[in-house]
Amino acid sequence: MKEVLQDLSLEELSSLVCNAGGRPFRAKQIFEGLMQGKKISSLPVPSDLRNLLLERYEDEPVRIKEVFLSKDGTKKFLFELADGNLIEGVLMHYEYGNTQCVSTQVGCRMGCKFCASTLNGRVRDLTAGEILGQIAAVNRMEGGTLKERAVTNVVLMGSGEPFDNYENVVKFLRNLIAEGGLHVSARNISLSTCGLVPEMRKFADEGIPLNLTVSLHAVSDEERRRTMPVANRYTIAEILEACAYYFEKTGRRYIFEYSLIEGENADMVHAEALANLLKGKPCHVNLIRLNPVKERDLSGTDERTAQAFLKALLSRGISATLRRSMGSDIGGACGQLRARYLKGE
Ligand code: SAH
Repeated sequence: MKEVLQDLSLEELSSLVCNAGGRPFRAKQIFEGLMQGKKISSLPVPSDLRNLLLERYEDEPVRIKEVFLSKDGTKKFLFELADGNLIEGVLMHYEYGNTQCVSTQVGCRMGCKFCASTLNGRVRDLTAGEILGQIAAVNRMEGGTLKERAVTNVVLMGSGEPFDNYENVVKFLRNLIAEGGLHVSARNISLSTCGLVPEMRKFADEGIPLNLTVSLHAVSDEERRRTMPVANRYTIAEILEACAYYFEKTGRRYIFEYSLIEGENADMVHAEALANLLKGKPCHVNLIRLNPVKERDLSGTDERTAQAFLKALLSRGISATLRRSMGSDIGGACGQLRARYLKGE
């Protein structure tokens, strides 16, 4: 596989163009064109510069291979990378805009028991440009431009653990936020982590005030270890300290993902324990009923149990919402589409 031109920042493009003897404004042109989802071969630059780029860089590092439309309007995308690897992403329509969920790795090695992304482990990390390319491609397909984006919000909640691919993810975020490109505001970006504490702390110092989301899914370390192997490395107490540090550095409240799993973490005692754990903290809880994964024997709770859990949190003063499960008819949950595809279904 050749290199990925979309990995480069505007600054890096500038020195590339300069070294190639091109005029300085070409860098901005290339940056804009790539952010618009254009291939190198269709960039509006002189052909000698274009050919030089094509020698070293992939013409189209992320290609939309298939699109699946759900009854609720959610779209699921299957992307093909230059080396033939497949990744997936989702575009969800909300009243306030369109949220795209992107993948950060091919597969995942975190091993969460309820997640389809991790079934075959991690194949490789995505480069910064391969993460960005997912958004540029979808924005273009949906008829968006740089000024009038069809993708208004971005969540790093697709396959992969963002903080297990730290450098590339930070590079991607800086290019996503950069002026002259897609220019997405940090407050419209959410990054979800299973709780890699050292990286959470490091990220707090990067000066990117996005919505930090932590997949908690349990109220005690013992219970968390049953579904999330990462709980053997870091305790909930350490996660909460890292969250507090993030708040101190950015002023942004943090969010916990809590998937309600039947017979595992969804009883009233869990709701009470969760409320006690989070009482008085500047945080929000996102509840969702676990999306059943065929290869896993865990299932979500029914709607009534989920509503009761939500009520129990709210009545104890915890800010919480129960998210609708979207796109479940098209394999909306993490890694389901790729898993199905790999099996040739
Ligand atoms: N690795 C990161 C981001 C990817 S997963 C993380 O762990 O946060 C995005 C979210 O989807 C996480 O909260 C994850 O726990 C959750 N998730 C994974 N499989 C799910 C399923 N089958 N049903 C509901 N949520 C799921």
